[in-house]
Amino acid sequence: MKLDLLVIAAHPDDAEICVGGTLLKLASAGRKIGIVDVTRGEMGTRGSRADRDRETARANELLGLSVRENLELPDGRVQVTLEAREHLARILREHRPELVLAQHTEDLHPDHFTTGRLAREAWYLAGLQRLAELDGGPTAARPKRLLHFAGHLPFEPSFVVDIGPVWERKLELVRSYQSQLAPADAGDRGQHFLFGADILSRMETRARFFGERVGVRYGEPLLHVGPLLLGDVAMLA
Ligand SMILES: [Zn+2]
Repeated sequence: MKLDLLVIAAHPDDAEICVGGTLLKLASAGRKIGIVDVTRGEMGTRGSRADRDRETARANELLGLSVRENLELPDGRVQVTLEAREHLARILREHRPELVLAQHTEDLHPDHFTTGRLAREAWYLAGLQRLAELDGGPTAARPKRLLHFAGHLPFEPSFVVDIGPVWERKLELVRSYQSQLAPADAGDRGQHFLFGADILSRMETRARFFGERVGVRYGEPLLHVGPLLLGDVAMLA
């Protein structure tokens, strides 16, 4: 299916936590959205595989997703292999999104920064016609734009999406992952945010911080590598 946007993230719920507001806004604008999770998140302290599958299905419904796929790489052991990047390049050629959102290539969690690298390599390879022919699948198609979202480490974004209008819906979306929100025991500090187990309040602190940078209440930061063309000079004044 032809998509407008594909998100590539290491673990189920990374996409929702990091860019859930952006996805809700684009879905409301009628865009066709897909997510590729690279792993099933099976190394997480919290929740069984069945819990996580049920939670992901609920999130898919709230987002109105057209596609959700999984690369089935081992959680905690994601590597950029030839096989993985060509598999991902094939998914990009099949769904032909205009925009890819992927984790940033700098993060504390190795799966996150490796997924960011994997996404960049697959994004480039998806545009190589000879590779597409060798693969025997759909013709080459490189998405127009690749933007990164932030995991553990904040960055200076290229722009911030105002997610104020969908903030309550984003909370509901992330609450789909109920097993991930409650600490499993007293020693559980959470895998997403190393410095605390309360995912929702950390998410809010971050959204308020980036929102404040651009004068709105809640924001999600996105990073483009290199300058972006200003299409309409009238936007300046
Ligand atoms: Zn993650």
